[in-house]
Amino acid sequence: MANNDSTTGIERLIRSNLAAFVGYSPSTSPETLKGKVEVPVENIIKLDANENPYGCSPKVRQALADYPNINIYPDNGQAELRRLLAEYTGVSAGRIVASGGSNQLIDLIVRLFVGSGDEVINCVPTFDVYRFSTEICGGRVIEVPRDENFAVNVDEVKAAISEKTRLIFLANPNSPTGNITPQADILEILDTGLPVVVDEAYYEFSGETVVPLVSRYDNLMVLRTFSKWAGLAGLRVGYGVFPPKIADYLMAIKMPYNVNVAAEIAVRESLKDIDYLRDRVKAIVAERERLFTELKKLGFLRPFPSRANFIFCPVLKGQAGELHQKLQNKGILVRYFNKPFLQNAIRISVGKPEHTDALIKALREIGGETGG
Ligand code: PMP
Repeated sequence: MANNDSTTGIERLIRSNLAAFVGYSPSTSPETLKGKVEVPVENIIKLDANENPYGCSPKVRQALADYPNINIYPDNGQAELRRLLAEYTGVSAGRIVASGGSNQLIDLIVRLFVGSGDEVINCVPTFDVYRFSTEICGGRVIEVPRDENFAVNVDEVKAAISEKTRLIFLANPNSPTGNITPQADILEILDTGLPVVVDEAYYEFSGETVVPLVSRYDNLMVLRTFSKWAGLAGLRVGYGVFPPKIADYLMAIKMPYNVNVAAEIAVRESLKDIDYLRDRVKAIVAERERLFTELKKLGFLRPFPSRANFIFCPVLKGQAGELHQKLQNKGILVRYFNKPFLQNAIRISVGKPEHTDALIKALREIGGETGG
């Protein structure tokens, strides 16, 4: 019979550095809330994962419906994808690697550079997958706190460098705070010569990129995704721009066929329909500004200016956890945080105008209840 005791069963054979591992906290799937909230699941307003409220291009839907070869593996070498993404970013195809979401590339980069006891510099608070992948690889995260406005402290980043440093991560715009790091600061970090990952998951909303610098810096890696601007979060497709030799290594160590055919088709069709998608991005950016103004008026949140498709708000009166729960009961999902570097705050993804209206109405009602 199987023995499930942790000291004598197979559990004792897992890697010791993973015994106390803390996983990533994902967003909530609406279907798991069936019967637990005041609205039917299909009416839930999902503002908790920075997804695109307008969905994907209609061309993607049509091409997926018409695709006949789902029984055939995708191109492991990603030839067409690399060519299309090279055109989109303005670099050579040999610099591109595509992946099942940019999360997968974060993991792949960490696996390429970080072994047991190696160090990764993280400008916290920031996207938690950098920590997640580093710890899984047995690496150690060196946390460099951002300042009170969440700006990167470049001097402290440099001071944190040791002989064991293998990578520096920089989300730009940062998640969950939405602010941009000035290019001069990124250049100063690049001048350390260490491998630097600039994660531009929200580039299409911010309009700021360091991709044009890749030919000048052989330690610069830039990550992008189709999850947000192109509305493809459910299909899982991201990519990175790398020094050509690093791209070769990543292509060698990635899982075979790591980008599925549906994602491949979706990228092709999205890029064909780029004007449509860019119009949606414009609408989201305009709505972000309206949402910011409305949040500020409430008086019990402190919205931070954002260059992404979400707004980070420390809660000035009341508890973020309670606010999150009350919104959820009304069928509106947002993220909340209450951990070191992210005390008592919520993050709201930008939705359609009607989502903003429903959210603000709900927040007014709740704010009144909690005396906000
Ligand atoms: N980087 C950042 C900064 C993010 O916020 C996210 C999404 N939450 C990702 C990467 C991952 O995106 P995906 O895996 O969907 O491409």
